[in-house]
Amino acid sequence: MTETASPARRAHQAAKRYIYAWGAGQAEGDATMRDLLGGKGAGLAEMTSAGLPVPPGFTITTEACNDYFDAGEQLPDGLWEDVLEAVREVERETGKGFGDPADPLLVSVRSGAKFSMPGMMDTVLNLGLNEATLHGLIDLTGNERFGWDAYRRFVQMFGRIVLGVDGARFDHAFDAIKHARGAALDTDLDAGDLRDAAAAFREIVRADTGREFPEDPYEQLDLAIKAVFASWFGKRARDYREYNRIAHDLGTAVNIVTMVFGNMGDDSGTGVAFTRDPNTGARILFGEYLTNAQGEDVVAGIRTPRKIAEMGDVMPAVYGEFERIAERLERHYRDMQDLEFTIERGRLYMLQTRSGKRTAAAAVRIAADMVDEGIITKLEALARIEPAHVDQLLRDQYDPAALRVATRVAKGLNASPGAAVGRAVFSADDAVAWVGRGEKVVLVRIETSPDDFHGMAVAQGILTARGGATSHAAVVARQIGKPCVAGCAELLVDYATKTARSTDSGGSFAEGDWISLDGSTGEVFAGSVPTVSARYEDQHDLQTVLGWADEVRRMQVWTNADKPEEAALARSYGAQGIGLCRTEHMFREGERLDIVRDAILVAFEATRAKERRAAGEALDADETAVVARFDAAMAKLEVLQQGDFEGIFRAMDGLPVVIRLIDPPLHEFLPSHEELLEQVVRLRTLGTPEADPEYAAARTLLAAVARLREQNPMLGLRGCRLGLMIPDFVKVQTRAILNAQIAVKRAGGDPRAEIMIPLVGHVNELRVTRRLLEAEAKAVEAAAGVTVDYKFGTMIEIPRACWVADEIAQYAEFFSFGTNDLTQMTFGYSRDDAEGGFLLKYVEDGILPENPFQTLDDVIVAEMALAVEKGRGARPGLKVGICGEHGGDPASIAKCERIGLDYVSCSPFRVPVARLAAAQAALVSAAERDR
Ligand code: ADP
Ligand code: MG
Ligand code: MG
Repeated sequence: MTETASPARRAHQAAKRYIYAWGAGQAEGDATMRDLLGGKGAGLAEMTSAGLPVPPGFTITTEACNDYFDAGEQLPDGLWEDVLEAVREVERETGKGFGDPADPLLVSVRSGAKFSMPGMMDTVLNLGLNEATLHGLIDLTGNERFGWDAYRRFVQMFGRIVLGVDGARFDHAFDAIKHARGAALDTDLDAGDLRDAAAAFREIVRADTGREFPEDPYEQLDLAIKAVFASWFGKRARDYREYNRIAHDLGTAVNIVTMVFGNMGDDSGTGVAFTRDPNTGARILFGEYLTNAQGEDVVAGIRTPRKIAEMGDVMPAVYGEFERIAERLERHYRDMQDLEFTIERGRLYMLQTRSGKRTAAAAVRIAADMVDEGIITKLEALARIEPAHVDQLLRDQYDPAALRVATRVAKGLNASPGAAVGRAVFSADDAVAWVGRGEKVVLVRIETSPDDFHGMAVAQGILTARGGATSHAAVVARQIGKPCVAGCAELLVDYATKTARSTDSGGSFAEGDWISLDGSTGEVFAGSVPTVSARYEDQHDLQTVLGWADEVRRMQVWTNADKPEEAALARSYGAQGIGLCRTEHMFREGERLDIVRDAILVAFEATRAKERRAAGEALDADETAVVARFDAAMAKLEVLQQGDFEGIFRAMDGLPVVIRLIDPPLHEFLPSHEELLEQVVRLRTLGTPEADPEYAAARTLLAAVARLREQNPMLGLRGCRLGLMIPDFVKVQTRAILNAQIAVKRAGGDPRAEIMIPLVGHVNELRVTRRLLEAEAKAVEAAAGVTVDYKFGTMIEIPRACWVADEIAQYAEFFSFGTNDLTQMTFGYSRDDAEGGFLLKYVEDGILPENPFQTLDDVIVAEMALAVEKGRGARPGLKVGICGEHGGDPASIAKCERIGLDYVSCSPFRVPVARLAAAQAALVSAAERDR
């Protein structure tokens, strides 16, 4: 297929060339012209030039669509004349005449944008039929039933799609006729019945539109072309583009294609096929066909289609030809193709080729196989796999065998990927109540609002009847990583009876019924469909592809892990270090929380007493006791933490482990002020004596908690500020880290500690902390009689720190961006308050393009770039990474690549995704440099 498009010889009347035709082995367009011709048009042209059998036709360009809208929904001057000329050419090639009763030319009118898009206009078949041409068709084929069937289909399709008549009106009329004739299937109706149906349909059109069904084929064509254009700005198409970030100004092309008939008897048929199995990626022709059928009968489920391989038995010659064409198209496009074809009286016609949609598993397998087969390069393979595919492969999925026999109740929008199985509940409160009883639930709502958040948080998944991909349900679900099917319009949700029923499938479910939703496909199934957990170690193709990613990427991928098990898991996924180990997470477990609380409650008193003692003052008995209590608690913590760190060092042997010193405000470790207050008030109201031990303890605790309370804890005493106020926090943690390092090294290991100070805004904060820490390190080294190798660095998460990163770099051997705080402080949002409140609404309303806590905002990236530049200016070679959640988000990873970070760090499950995303980012950067 090396032929180039034949030069455009046809003259045109319009100012621009809006029409590209194909036929008789020649085409004016080709595969490179998808922008102008849309995917379908470009494919038809390319197949024609390649000598494949394609019925002649022509494409009206996407440019015509845009000019049509620019001119206030008017066809550009001259375009209609050019359409007429192109129709004449098709007439010459086919020997038929448009509107000619003797040998009528019929066409299909098909939309076709650059990207295949649900929501665009459906295809109208058999256009050009009217009373006169219909009789011509019948005379020519000698098949009256075929003629009337084609005609009633045309009136029905044209009426619904172009004239906007409610499709159900036709369906009811058709059912009524079937009922009156006692016919079970469409195929049980005879020519006379179909003629009655056509008359009834025309009557419906007259009643609903107030006009006759257009008889003139040219008027039909004019209306159909305009309907395709109009569908570009239809609501569903617009929503789809917004979700998929497709520009609104691409426009759609219109394809006018000579009809070929798969419904002319048993030597005719129609079908669809993929060149590989789109579910598994296996290298087999995969698809279905129907004999004596037209258009989308195969997918419409009117009759049960047959497996494509059976075509080999029924029509061996045609099947052989199809196989050869499939193979050729795949090699030509160097990708798995999705093909549509029709057989008219033993002759095969190709009607469409495009890159096929596929599951994540198939995407990875096909990419890996095609590299093996020498069809594509490793780099192309990497570019073809989406980070979302990798993510999907690592989530639990439905067992494909179970899925095949599952009953589908409904289908909506695939708003957030993953499999969710649970019992249906219809309110957020019910969700919480059922989960409280140990049940798994799926929350079903007409739509969700911030008031439903508590239910969404505990549900396995979320299903809504209304709202698109940027609705509250969709945005929140993606945010909190829950599968979600949104905008399932066919579902009638009734809160009063706590039931839902699909108007399409008729299936229904009530509160407590098990349902299974697939957020990757938008499907909802009845019952509990079994899932299989994804095991990375079994996914060899994925490992191969990620191995190629590792060869390409510049940035390293580290992980955020607080526990040895998490570290080990991340390492098995390919993590090259720990970018964030949060010490305080270890504080919350079991008995530790009590020890921590004990220390916190006396921390300030003890610290002041210690300062006085250091200044030579004597302490009284109370003070001595407080110091003793504090030191005892801290000593216990030190032992426990040292054990934790040893475990992590062992798991990450030979790899860097960045340990962040205590960060959150202390109240997070204490009981809630409200609850204590309630308790004290309750005991007082009951007249409890002051000396009652419970009452006394509650009062003391309340007083302590009240002292530590802050108006704005996020901006209060936390991060490095804590260590500066209570130096023992720094000292104890330093000792635990370094002694763990010494112990593991003595045991033959290779531990690599990097100590990180959070929330530095002023250089002096870091300078003083460093002095404190180094003094303690010296003491540890002296006690152990060894020197300890560790790095000292800081988080950059306060805007001010970015501005003074050069000063800070003098005291820091590495930077790690905490982009959660950096985003909070730059936007002035408190994340918890914002996401639970206005922020998602902002995204829904388009005030913000996206949630900045999910994907790095460009201004945050600019701050980071400033810090990188200043930091490396002061300390050449300064190692810089990111440890905020953004480090696992592919779009953010691309931004990190551009500003030259050394690594991204993300949660263990995101590590494989980040490996791919980092490789893709490196490839894009290289391409930009070469340009
Ligand atoms: P979609 O974009 O939804 O795939 P298409 O424009 O490809 O829509 O049309 C859908 C189906 O209609 C095709 O797969 C084919 O079966 C049928 N069809 C379209 N054009 C023709 C034609 N000229 N002759 C016969 N069938 C056609
Ligand atoms: Mg369609
Ligand atoms: Mg198609």
